[in-house]
Amino acid sequence: MKLKLHWKIIIGMVLGLIYGIVAAMNGWGHFTAFWVAPFGTIFINLLKLIAIPLVLGSLVTGVASLSDLRKLSRIGGKTIAIYISTTAIAVTIGLVVVNFTKPGKSVPEDMRTKLQETYQQDVAASETSASQVKERGPLQPLVDMIPDNFFGSAASNRNMLQVVFFAIFLGIAIVQLPSENTKVFLGFFEGLNDTIIKMVDNIMLMAPYGVFALIADTINVIAKDNLGQVIELLSALGFYCLVVMFGLMIQTLVTYPSLLKIFSKMSVIDFFKGIAPAQLLAFSTSSSGATLPVTMERCEQNLGVSEEVSSFVLPLGATINMDGTALYQAVAAVFISQALGMSLGIGDQLTIILTAVLASIGTAAVPGAGIIMLVIILEAINVPSAGIALILGVDRILDMMRTVTNITGDSSVAVSVAATEGQLGEVNLDND
Ligand code: ASP
Repeated sequence: MKLKLHWKIIIGMVLGLIYGIVAAMNGWGHFTAFWVAPFGTIFINLLKLIAIPLVLGSLVTGVASLSDLRKLSRIGGKTIAIYISTTAIAVTIGLVVVNFTKPGKSVPEDMRTKLQETYQQDVAASETSASQVKERGPLQPLVDMIPDNFFGSAASNRNMLQVVFFAIFLGIAIVQLPSENTKVFLGFFEGLNDTIIKMVDNIMLMAPYGVFALIADTINVIAKDNLGQVIELLSALGFYCLVVMFGLMIQTLVTYPSLLKIFSKMSVIDFFKGIAPAQLLAFSTSSSGATLPVTMERCEQNLGVSEEVSSFVLPLGATINMDGTALYQAVAAVFISQALGMSLGIGDQLTIILTAVLASIGTAAVPGAGIIMLVIILEAINVPSAGIALILGVDRILDMMRTVTNITGDSSVAVSVAATEGQLGEVNLDND
């Protein structure tokens, strides 16, 4: 019997975990960094390599196939409205959970001092990045979306929204012209699109090995040849981690299934089976950006979302819709204030909702970006940003989990929008 892709990836993850622990116990850190980790980097690079051509190819063909351009603004409006609502729900879940469980009260005084000393330098780096973000004007994100040079924007995966803008702009012009003028040009994008999807399939053949290397390397980086230190960290911050995970689980297992129930007829089990490989990749890479090609492929080929919807909703979601990050930021902000003995009033909690929704929109789809934006939230509620030292040690683990929620959110919105537009085909789970 042929093993399904997600099982192969899970086996890779488990073996990576076992190897990582054995390596940390035996001090193989150097060997792992030199001989194992590069395969993880190669795998992530391959995924990132095809992200821009994939978005370009599928969005241009998607928009160009529209007969009515008003449909585009309707899909856009719906998508953004659902994205913002689900993020606000995520932050609210985070706040309720953290205010009830109060994990910050359980951090011992001596551990607090130790953590603050250990992570002092990393805090300074995050503060500098956050202050650069804060200096920008309110309309800067809009300006940033419009590139002045296409090749400049296509040269970096961080400029995904610029590529999305260019593709829509180009697609609209194609619709406006008579088809005989654009036939060849459009054919190029259709061919590009099919070819890139084949490349995703080919890259996924490497997924179990790539994931093995990524997990082994993550453990290596966290443990630094000293597993005892991780166990000590987890015993002090374990409760905080559990609270974040609990919140993420509610968002993933209650909010998104409800969304699917409201807007589509898709079975929740089919949905999770369909996107499982993308979730496992999000967990291993901690990057919604790197996972995007697989998220798109699974939504289109396995869940039946039309190319037109998926190629618009998913790249946009990978950049601006980060429910897991927003939930985590809310829990972390309250946790830090609890641990520092500061109490937050209702006004502060409302400020957290607003700033976390905005901060998650501004968070880049790469590992560790969420904690930089946390600095801005802390400043908005007058909690010293140096407090992030308390949680930096376990951030990578939580990053893996919140990235899973982030891409699950994007996929459930893609299914919902497609269903309301009559663009949701049959589920096909045998399509590995
Ligand atoms: N790693 C997250 C993502 O790519 C962002 C973050 O929360 O740090 O979705």
